[in-house]
Amino acid sequence: MDFSLTAEQEAFRAAVETFCAREIMPRAADIDRQDEFPPDLWRKMGEMGLLGIGVPEAYGGSGGDIFDSYLAGEVIAAASSGVALSSGAHSYLCVYNLFRNGTEAQRQRYLPDLCAGRKVGALCITEPDSGSDAVGMTTRATPEGDHFVLTGGKTWITNAPIADVFVLYAKTDPAAGARGITAFLLERGMPGLSTSAPIDKMGCKGSPTGRIFLDGVRVGPEQVLGTVGNGVHVLMSGLDVERAIFASLALGQARRAFDLALAYSKERVQFGKPIAQFQMIQAKLADMYTRVEAARLLNLRAAMACVGLERGGKGTEVHKLAAAALLFAAESAEKVVYDAVQIHGGNGYATEFEVSRLYRDVRLGTIGAGTSEIRRLIVARELLRG
Ligand SMILES: Cc1cc2nc3c(=O)[nH]c(=O)nc-3n(C[C@H](O)[C@H](O)[C@H](O)COP(=O)(O)OP(=O)(O)OC[C@H]3O[C@@H](n4cnc5c(N)ncnc54)[C@H](O)[C@@H]3O)c2cc1C
Repeated sequence: MDFSLTAEQEAFRAAVETFCAREIMPRAADIDRQDEFPPDLWRKMGEMGLLGIGVPEAYGGSGGDIFDSYLAGEVIAAASSGVALSSGAHSYLCVYNLFRNGTEAQRQRYLPDLCAGRKVGALCITEPDSGSDAVGMTTRATPEGDHFVLTGGKTWITNAPIADVFVLYAKTDPAAGARGITAFLLERGMPGLSTSAPIDKMGCKGSPTGRIFLDGVRVGPEQVLGTVGNGVHVLMSGLDVERAIFASLALGQARRAFDLALAYSKERVQFGKPIAQFQMIQAKLADMYTRVEAARLLNLRAAMACVGLERGGKGTEVHKLAAAALLFAAESAEKVVYDAVQIHGGNGYATEFEVSRLYRDVRLGTIGAGTSEIRRLIVARELLRG
């Protein structure tokens, strides 16, 4: 069994690493401190093709497949969690979803600007009273002739304060439960649609998260993504891919924390020798390395299963693999970052040191994109199926 990347994948990964080292890493501390996403960086990411991976060039994307997205996710997250969260939500929750489920007219209308970084995308499921229980949403899209009038609101939406295009789920038939949900494409500027200021978060700063208010937003049938009543299918169709890619973000954070701790342990001298020579520090380093590499292997299996599915493969193993990969990667990343701070001692508690930023950032991994508890439920459901 060969886990090595192809020459093409290696070259792609190296190019993303060079870009991140030049454009993101030097600004990551400022992005965190100012809690602002720099628009010029967004454009550069668009030019580099990082905002349209998996989308064919005909729509302004950079081609490639889900595996490339997975590789890029790890590298971007190692540079800045905030940038990774915003670009991840844009690229996979909005852009890739739109590509997979959109009509030709919708693809032509939205994808070129989104892929180029001229526009920002968001995905809107969560509401104040429905988080884990997504199907319990109460935002309504009431049919009026062949139009729909949307009323309600969303919260915790990555990019909401700055987004131009929103993939948003609403109930078109509340009595039909999961079958009464429809996905819509909304745009900033539509009468009745407004967004809040960014929520003041503890981590992933620079990625603005906010609320969306819908007060009688009237849209035509051309704004339906997929078909009416088929929103849950639209939502589920991309979930495995999204989980595999979010697992790569957790891996990127863990790898970065491990690299920082390893380097620090060789430099920091106590009792006359580098702390790396103390066995308790070595044990931490060994555990951190093991967690990073174990997460990487499970992530690779999940990402490869997603590629197989995208190429028309069948089977449900991908559901539990993707949920398990994200579950394990996110929880491993928390432990790795915790140890990285410990190895840094007092300096790990100083905002000046990158590990303290990672400590705040990594906490999102077991909450966003479905919590650890829900991931466990999914794995168990798949194990017990049939
Ligand atoms: C920074 C950030 C960015 C986000 N970005 C987006 C986005 O772009 N789009 C979007 O739609 N949403 C987004 N979210 C929302 C995210 O998906 C939800 O926060 C998440 O699904 C959990 O929902 P909740 O916060 O309402 O928690 P709740 O569902 O209220 O859960 C609270 C606790 O109860 C547990 N729980 C709930 N149900 C069960 C159960 N059946 N069994 C056991 N335990 C259970 C949960 O695991 C959790 O520990 C984002 C959240 C954050 C923090």
